[in-house]
Amino acid sequence: MEGTDLLGNYFKVECIGCALADKSLVPVGGIIKETENFILHHDPEVPIKGFLIIASKQHIKSITQLSKPQAIEFFELCYKARVALSSFEDIDECALIQEERSSHFHFWILPKYKWLNDLFDNSLSSLRPIMKYAEENLKTEKNIEDIKMCVERLKLILNE
Ligand SMILES: [Zn+2]
Repeated sequence: MEGTDLLGNYFKVECIGCALADKSLVPVGGIIKETENFILHHDPEVPIKGFLIIASKQHIKSITQLSKPQAIEFFELCYKARVALSSFEDIDECALIQEERSSHFHFWILPKYKWLNDLFDNSLSSLRPIMKYAEENLKTEKNIEDIKMCVERLKLILNE
């Protein structure tokens, strides 16, 4: 697949999940936290502050393919990431989503900001329109700077 990241850099990779796992593709701000089987990073393309992704390093589609220790490793990372987002005053609700459609497992943690809920219905069907809106309207210098600061703060919280 190919695309343009938040910073305007063009990329073309076989698999975005593999490229992030082997570090040939660096998401905005870099990897937030890495465990044996997963990485936590900001969404590389959608400029919504704190839109986090937990991706597996291996090709799996579903949590059913995890061993129990891997499932615990995954959930601990998920829990810690979600709790870390609670330290941001403007985040009080998130959508946690894992579609089993992709060949490379990725789990979304998407903050639902008040300004988003003012613009869109607070429902699953709004997710794609929200992402499209963000890609078209939120690649501003200020917002990108806020995202980088958010990533740095999450790194500090999650790697203590
Ligand atoms: Zn892959």
